[in-house]
Amino acid sequence: MNMLDIGAAQTAYRDELVAAGLLIPTGVDGLYGRSGVFEDVVERFDALVTRRGGADGAEVMRFPPALNRRHFEESDYLKSFPHLAGTIHSFAGDEKAHRTLLRRLEDGQDWTGDQAATDVVMTPAACYPVYPTIARRGALSDDGKLIDVFSYCFRHEPSIDPARMQMFRMREYIRIGTPEQVVAFREAWLERGREMMASLEVPLEIDVANDPFFGRAGAMLSSSQREQKLKFELLIPVTSTEKPTACLSFNYHQDHFGHIWDIRTADGGIAHTACVGFGMERVALALFRHHGFDPAGWPAAVRKVLWG
Ligand code: ATP
Ligand code: ZN
Ligand code: MG
Repeated sequence: MNMLDIGAAQTAYRDELVAAGLLIPTGVDGLYGRSGVFEDVVERFDALVTRRGGADGAEVMRFPPALNRRHFEESDYLKSFPHLAGTIHSFAGDEKAHRTLLRRLEDGQDWTGDQAATDVVMTPAACYPVYPTIARRGALSDDGKLIDVFSYCFRHEPSIDPARMQMFRMREYIRIGTPEQVVAFREAWLERGREMMASLEVPLEIDVANDPFFGRAGAMLSSSQREQKLKFELLIPVTSTEKPTACLSFNYHQDHFGHIWDIRTADGGIAHTACVGFGMERVALALFRHHGFDPAGWPAAVRKVLWG
């Protein structure tokens, strides 16, 4: 398939999902409401993740889909992915500025110039609020730390691909500890993730991957990330077989976040971190793609895994 065909397949599948009522369009590419049927699948998959990972003793944390802007600034996100970031701005002017805003609005001109940055930015990945939180608690114990998060995330990547949304949910487990602890966690989840998704009877492959680092320096970061096998993705065909969609990802950040926020292991070293992320909408879309739009008609074994 060439790029044009892929685009056509994405548009066609999005139209089908909208016609079936699973996705509710808003007029903006990548911004959708979801139906009750869609949400039920997301909830059942979320529960499956908990069944597979909950026994490891993770501490549950739930954050709103926004970050402290200072933590965001410290995180280096703007160095790597300025093109994806979403910041929250708000009107901060006086009455004169308000009149100007209304006039520009009326005239169909840009009214956003009077907006000022607030102290919050959109969460780009569910694990971001965790690192400064853990750092604040002081050095880790010998076992390190395991955290469970679930959040809406924002990325400015509008697309006709229904699997590439601007706001989507990410469930994650985050391991913080020694390099050995963190690498063992990622190895275990690579296997578990494969098993879990195989039990849902979808075709899958796991492959090394890279993040879309910005700019020319970014291309080097991407290739070094691949060479060091720091990121793996579990891919499932959703709109294309040749270009399957990343539904789970397994990331080893080495000491990147530990260094930024000075997270220390029990023996005083800089903590390493890794996370496994589940793209909730993408998993739901993969299930609808392979088993049909009506979960009542899904294979009995798959229904049993999800609904018990
Ligand atoms: P891709 O390579 O497709 O852009 P990614 O590498 O950006 O994916 P991660 O940053 O690892 O993905 O995010 C973790 C998970 O969140 C992904 O495995 C995927 O399931 C999901 N995800 C990422 N971006 C989107 C998006 N735009 N819409 C829906 N789900 C997404
Ligand atoms: Zn993460
Ligand atoms: Mg991406």
